[in-house]
Amino acid sequence: MTVTTPDASSRISAGAVTATGAATVEFRGLRRQFGPTTALDGLDLTVEPGELLALLGPSGCGKTTALRMLAGFEHPDSGAVLVDGQDVTRVPAHRRDAGMVFQSYSLFPHLDALDNVAFGLRMRKTGKAERTARAAELLELVGLGDKARRFPHQLSGGQQQRVALARALALRPRVLLLDEPLSALDAKVRLTLREEIRRIQRELGITTLFVTHDQEEALSMADRVAVMRAGRLEQCAPPAELYGRPATAFVAEFVGTMSRIPGRLLDGDTVEVLGRRLPVDGEPPATSATSAASVASATKDVDVLVRPEDVQVSSEGACSARIVATAFLGATTRLTVRLADATEVKADLPTHEAAALAAGDAVTVTVRERPVLVAAR
Ligand code: ATP
Repeated sequence: MTVTTPDASSRISAGAVTATGAATVEFRGLRRQFGPTTALDGLDLTVEPGELLALLGPSGCGKTTALRMLAGFEHPDSGAVLVDGQDVTRVPAHRRDAGMVFQSYSLFPHLDALDNVAFGLRMRKTGKAERTARAAELLELVGLGDKARRFPHQLSGGQQQRVALARALALRPRVLLLDEPLSALDAKVRLTLREEIRRIQRELGITTLFVTHDQEEALSMADRVAVMRAGRLEQCAPPAELYGRPATAFVAEFVGTMSRIPGRLLDGDTVEVLGRRLPVDGEPPATSATSAASVASATKDVDVLVRPEDVQVSSEGACSARIVATAFLGATTRLTVRLADATEVKADLPTHEAAALAAGDAVTVTVRERPVLVAAR
């Protein structure tokens, strides 16, 4: 096996660093209690072979606990972890066949990049020539072929994380586990490494679970994103579906920007908001009212959830709203508009259209005609 082949794909197809067949991962009813804290509350989730699945959710929702259960560092109180249909819940970590990359680079400071990558192979008593060749090849794969003899302190954060990735792949794991691997890096390096990780993951076809609390990272990298809330799965879907058809108000507001605009539910299917009647997407919310007498009025007042790109702003009409802030985002400009009832709404406009508007201007706000999610007020 040569390490000097210029074309990465020919190296990969040669099988030296390819995973040993993509695995299916299943979490079945995982529960885990830490004293009074419920970290996982019946998590059900399947990661398909070769898929990059991002676990996304607010701090403390159980993402890392789920990942650690797949790695074997943590055990559920009940439920099971299956890899290719085989129950591995009680299999110790060192026999799980999982490669892991953490937020902190966790490289051995006294070993150079090549020896860091080769470390696991050395532990497995792989011969020197073979482990050196494979480590060099993996460093090529992560774009560090010329940095093999550098020690961690001679590498940037992004380069160290590439070494950590190469090391995680060295033992040809069946699953790759990434725990916030980019969060310690600066914004530009993070963007480059996102693409690199995705490229390598695709080339190897390795089933990958990626934990992040950064929704942009999850949406831009993953095949599917699993949104967790309080130890359970809220929704698992491809990025565009999650963004465009969120199953719940929680997902809608957690993924992307959403404004809540007061509206009135006219019947189960229609809501009136800012003078427009729009179809309701999905189920209308259950009323929070408890007495039958209050149901009649309480059920009607709802919040309508609207994306900034679905808010229309014009300087014509009644103009009962006012622009309170503008933020230039490049191709679009985000306006913050205060309605007559003091509700603040975000609106994204093409920058050339927004150029005619400024903070303080009186405007009319409407919602684009499309089905909308509604939530209890
Ligand atoms: P973050 O994004 O902040 O890392 P997370 O979604 O990864 O959060 P977990 O680390 O899985 O969340 O933790 C879930 C809950 O379980 C949290 O409330 C956490 O404090 C608690 N927890 C996790 N591990 C332990 C532990 N070993 N002992 C006690 N509590 C724990």
